[in-house]
Amino acid sequence: MPDSQQQPPHSPSGQTDTAALLLCGARLTDGRTVDVRLGGGRIEAVGTAGSLATGTAGSLATGTAGSLATGAAGALAAKVDLTGYLLLPAPAEAHAHSDTALTADGHGPLAYDDRAVRRRATEAALLQLGHGATALRSHVRVGDVQGLDALTAVLEVRRSLRGLADLATVAMPRVLTGTAGADGLAMLRDALKMGASVVGGCPDADPDPTGYVEAVLELASEHGCPVDLHTDASDPARLARLTAMAGGLRPGVTLGPCGGLGGLPPEVAARAADQLAAAGVTVVCLPQGACGSADRRGTAPVRLLRAAGVRVAAGSGALRDVSNPVGRGDPLEAAYLLASRYGLRPEEAYDAVSRAARAALGLPEVRVEAGFPAELLAVRGDGLAGALSLAYSRIVIHRGRVVARTSAVREYCDSAAESGLELPRQGREEPS
Ligand SMILES: [Zn+2]
Repeated sequence: MPDSQQQPPHSPSGQTDTAALLLCGARLTDGRTVDVRLGGGRIEAVGTAGSLATGTAGSLATGTAGSLATGAAGALAAKVDLTGYLLLPAPAEAHAHSDTALTADGHGPLAYDDRAVRRRATEAALLQLGHGATALRSHVRVGDVQGLDALTAVLEVRRSLRGLADLATVAMPRVLTGTAGADGLAMLRDALKMGASVVGGCPDADPDPTGYVEAVLELASEHGCPVDLHTDASDPARLARLTAMAGGLRPGVTLGPCGGLGGLPPEVAARAADQLAAAGVTVVCLPQGACGSADRRGTAPVRLLRAAGVRVAAGSGALRDVSNPVGRGDPLEAAYLLASRYGLRPEEAYDAVSRAARAALGLPEVRVEAGFPAELLAVRGDGLAGALSLAYSRIVIHRGRVVARTSAVREYCDSAAESGLELPRQGREEPS
């Protein structure tokens, strides 16, 4: 479980997350239009539209994200008008690389100094939060040239984001076996003491991949923390060994991006999928592309894995760094690709970046029902397929507060209307 879960609620503005907030007129994926009352960081009540609206103080629908955040203070519930919005459990970013994000345009060697990493990691996390990811898991390299500097910086960012988003860090040592491995192991232990909450890395890059996995599992078991390893999964025998070793570990093992599985003969890939399912291993695929720590081999065969019973989540991976010069860090883009390129239904695709991603991160489930955590994303539109296609306008809620708001306005020139064209339903306001 990410250690951020154990921190007391705190917000940078000094506001607690206990203030009530009423979301009015939101559409749910089952077609209902509802009011949703939030309080104490949870969903307190869900009722038919208008049924919870009494006793509220003022509308915040036209405010900016800043005024929304401060405006929610007070005894009475503040109100956000979600007419025209689809309300969803918030997505989570299951596979980010904060320390290298946004470096594609840089010149010369990559800077790992505290300031540079903090700036990049903050910018990347806020970008991802703006898209709706209120929880993020970021892989951070430890050892080698950067030592523990990059991790130190990302942990500082994690603290400064508290109240906005939960950021958990995965420590990624390079080598854990042989003579060089002793340093790697010491560094990994220090990383966990400092606050990294997950043990990770790339066993395939170690001269002894099995020894690497043994070291990782032993340390994780000692510290009671989850494991999240990089592999392209293109070597079935090696993957079978890793899967067999991973099976016993609680709180769980995640592998990603596993793109190489798609290149294996179908019967070999199917056997690997059965083994992953039996071992309870989660796969985080990266539909937008791989990341620097795994070969680019396309996306893991999500339908095959799902059919075998493997929990499959999707993350963004590289975000404008050496291994992917572009990137939005948008979970809805990952879901869009799962639907458009890999044959998942929109509901299944969104599940991969929300329910499955949160489960992969060890976070409690979110449903738009009373009692569940108030981690929500409102997207302009009235259905999931539309939301995955054109999700420009979004309102992001973390611990019961609006933490980000994006509003898109599209206008057509006058001649469009004059020529008798019937403008889209949202007319000149917002594309949806
Ligand atoms: Zn990665």
